[in-house]
Amino acid sequence: MAKTIQAIRGMNDCLPTQSPLWQKLENTVKHVISAYGYNEVRMPIVEETNLFSRAVGEETDVVSKEMYTFEDRNGDSLTLRPEGTAGCVRACIQNSLINRDEQRLWYMGPMFRHERPQKGRYRQFHQCGVEVFGLNGPDVDAELIMMTARLWRELGIDKHVRLELNSIGSLEDRANYRIALVAFLEQHVDVLDDDCKRRMHTNPLRVLDTKNPDIQAVLGDAPRLSDYLGDESKQHFAGLCELLDAAGIEYTVNERLVRGLDYYNRTVFEWITESLGAQGTVCGGGRYDGLVEQLGGKATPAVGFAMGLERLVLMLETLELTDVRRSVDVYMVTAGEGTMMAGLKLAEQLREQVPGLRVMNHFGGGNFKKQFKRADKVGAAVALVLGENEVADGTVVLKDLIGGTQETYSQADVTAKLAELV
Ligand code: ATP
Ligand code: MG
Repeated sequence: MAKTIQAIRGMNDCLPTQSPLWQKLENTVKHVISAYGYNEVRMPIVEETNLFSRAVGEETDVVSKEMYTFEDRNGDSLTLRPEGTAGCVRACIQNSLINRDEQRLWYMGPMFRHERPQKGRYRQFHQCGVEVFGLNGPDVDAELIMMTARLWRELGIDKHVRLELNSIGSLEDRANYRIALVAFLEQHVDVLDDDCKRRMHTNPLRVLDTKNPDIQAVLGDAPRLSDYLGDESKQHFAGLCELLDAAGIEYTVNERLVRGLDYYNRTVFEWITESLGAQGTVCGGGRYDGLVEQLGGKATPAVGFAMGLERLVLMLETLELTDVRRSVDVYMVTAGEGTMMAGLKLAEQLREQVPGLRVMNHFGGGNFKKQFKRADKVGAAVALVLGENEVADGTVVLKDLIGGTQETYSQADVTAKLAELV
């Protein structure tokens, strides 16, 4: 036998047994976002490498270690998108979507990062992102958080996530803070691990979210970013907290929350769960008021977030919230001369008369017993049975596969009964 080919490590198939839960999640997400009047945008999966190094930042983990970058046949350096914001901004600039107008957008799709695969962390994963351009008040920041809170309620996971919030100020605020932080870190360089030592010079704010408990303890005495925020950043953050309080959304301010990508300013937030172990962040976002201009567009305030769909699916599974609508309502069983054609016809008629009804025809022959076994296997609620007698007198036998009862209907009347299944 030929050697079988495996999928790339960290890149998973979504199997037919898993796809109903994914569809349910995706539909709920789309439904909630649409309820706020946002529109979908679809970007290419491959972009110029420069886009990500400029937008996300050369010194970030994503750009420095995690990107799938390759040369295409023209010799151009291309990258499989590791996140969606950069491409979304590129698309808005290129298509003049944000010169005068505001935009409220969302997207969903695969992202690629070369990380060590583990539960909740994959090399191809899926995000749903929301981005808003042209609005600078804390009101829209609050709306994005309210939108995610609504989504958690609709998914039934709201009791299992908590919100952490911070303001990382303006570029200028951070530049001042950075000087103070680096001075502090230099005094404690002996306790820093290699990762933190490297970050101290490349991206010192990221030292703040180290997971190393010894370093965390030392950081307790580090200068506080909140002491370096300018008045406007402070007001913006106070405004956001006030709106969230009024909306009844609970949060904790985590002064160490800085997020991994360079483009953020002012508001940053994360929704975190304890139910997934180490990979606990299901959604993260914040403001990135400088990015549009940095990528060559007109200065435009912006805010957004992205959530990891695999982690949400894992949560739904862990919390056993996996009830999905069955994929087959009716299984069409036929036996005898001319019954196959009658079965195909009746199935078509039912699909037309009962919108949303899922009808599966049995193919491949076999006796009733075999056909009913198939019907059970696909999880159908009822079987419709057509034998030669039924075809002759325009009737059909409806067998309830859950209750076990069966009854004969005229083919015209059975639709009303089946409509109950939708
Ligand atoms: P983490 O700290 O877990 O690495 P991140 O800060 O790198 O996350 P973002 O770039 O903010 O993540 O992406 C937003 C969300 O996308 C994350 O909160 C997470 O739910 C999801 N995500 C990020 N990387 C992965 C991955 N490799 N596999 C699965 N989901 C991911
Ligand atoms: Mg990461």
